[in-house]
Amino acid sequence: MQAGTKYIFVTGGVVSSLGKGIISSSLANLLKARGYRVTIQKFDPYINIDPGTLNPYEHGECYVTADGHEADLDLGHYERFTDIQTSRANNVTTGRIYQSVIDKERRGDYLGKTVQIIPHITDEIKRNVKLLGNTGKFDFVITEIGGTVGDIESLPFIESVRQLKWDLGDDCICVHLTYMPFIKAAQELKTKPTQHSVKMLQEAGIQPDILVLRTEKEIPAEMRRKIALFCNVQPDAVIQCIDAPSIYEVPMLMHEQHIDELVLRKAGMKVDGEPDMEPWKRFLSRMNNASGTVTIGLVGKYVELQDAYKSIDEALFQAATYNGVKLDLRFVHSEKVNGGNVDELLADMDGVIVAPGFGQRGIEGKFVALKWCREHDVPTFGICLGMQCMVIEFARNVLGMAEANSTEMNPTTPYNVIDLMEEQKSISNMGGTMRLGAYTCRLKEDSRAAKAYGSTEVNERHRHRFEFNGDYRERFETAGMRCVGENPETGLVEVVELPDKRWFIGTQYHPEYSSTVLHPNPIFIDFVSAAIAYRKEKGVK
Ligand code: GLN
Repeated sequence: MQAGTKYIFVTGGVVSSLGKGIISSSLANLLKARGYRVTIQKFDPYINIDPGTLNPYEHGECYVTADGHEADLDLGHYERFTDIQTSRANNVTTGRIYQSVIDKERRGDYLGKTVQIIPHITDEIKRNVKLLGNTGKFDFVITEIGGTVGDIESLPFIESVRQLKWDLGDDCICVHLTYMPFIKAAQELKTKPTQHSVKMLQEAGIQPDILVLRTEKEIPAEMRRKIALFCNVQPDAVIQCIDAPSIYEVPMLMHEQHIDELVLRKAGMKVDGEPDMEPWKRFLSRMNNASGTVTIGLVGKYVELQDAYKSIDEALFQAATYNGVKLDLRFVHSEKVNGGNVDELLADMDGVIVAPGFGQRGIEGKFVALKWCREHDVPTFGICLGMQCMVIEFARNVLGMAEANSTEMNPTTPYNVIDLMEEQKSISNMGGTMRLGAYTCRLKEDSRAAKAYGSTEVNERHRHRFEFNGDYRERFETAGMRCVGENPETGLVEVVELPDKRWFIGTQYHPEYSSTVLHPNPIFIDFVSAAIAYRKEKGVK
């Protein structure tokens, strides 16, 4: 192992959804601002090999790394908060651990031994925990353990952390995140769930070094001392994480309670000066001084799910902030849009995004919304399936191909304007087999997209099986839909636009995945700026 690499483990207790990802990201943000090289990885206790085959109803959005891994959405937070790219190595599931152990067993690597959770599964977990640290590229490796302490399925991970504490000694720090409920009737914050959760960790052999407490109300100093006493930690290592209006406030809230110093001290490192949070603070000041609003409609089929379009939501928020306005994001359920209500549903939108997705459900509503947007010349952005729907709607209503479709929705359509990619035709396994990860896209110099990016070459991430069918390219171009972006190696069409509209662009790739707080994606900035201009034109304040 690389001498000097420090390992920070973040576990959670009491309930799920406390925001371990945000705490890990905030800590990484502060350590990076102190000049350290940091990476964050997530270990998920479920048996799926990766979340790529999971329905968004299960775990929200599937995030895609530049190297083409379908990952947990927390990796999106890691990248947005730190501006450091993650990779396949940053997200490991129980499924991947078992797969690798079973492969070794089949190869005969265990030389006739009985293969067991301890030591074989835990050894494999520990090997994976140390993979990134062993590259020598990082001073800190933060490992977020998914799930809640006490879950049966998290046990091998918790046991591995216990063992690692012995291997790593002072190079290992455990942060435990818990919840302080506020009982309204008694007007009291309660410490008991935290005590129980820490006790459960201790029973598993882990003494947390730092406790972070999610709370709706300020936790009085006296109560923090009590928690320190019961949970066997230093009083200054009990940190409150109070509900903030924006997740992007959390790094500063953590810094005010010296979490970064605490980590450095626990790791036996010198605490030198302050982290350079100036760029981050400039973003916060833009966020808090934003005036005016931009109303964006997001048309998709998972609108009742807060996390289903997480990266799009965050990319829009970042872009609105950079444009100096507040984002009013309205979710429009694609299954509910029809010719009779589209006017009413979209009338207030300054811009519309048509979301990515898979399958037939809600697709017809997307066509209705796109037709309306095109005819009303509303700034419109289609992402992945959204772009494919732009192409299909244009074929149906402008090119007169009424039955045009994607072969994903109708394999026997007479006009397969969106078709399965050649390399996909022989693939039958669903997991990890799409066109995934970052590819170069060359943009026409005179396109709106190139203007938005300020460049004719971009590198964006993909996640799809179907593509624009090049056989139809000329007919689209002649009728006014330009194919302005293509992959220089394969000629695949990646970006289409309608130049005679205010802003009407579809991207086969997902620009939302590469948008970060300090570097929001330029195409989102340009889209939001077009929506703001349109709002002004309409005379809306
Ligand atoms: N279902 C489409 C395809 O596979 C689009 C995928 C997406 O929107 N991510 O090509």
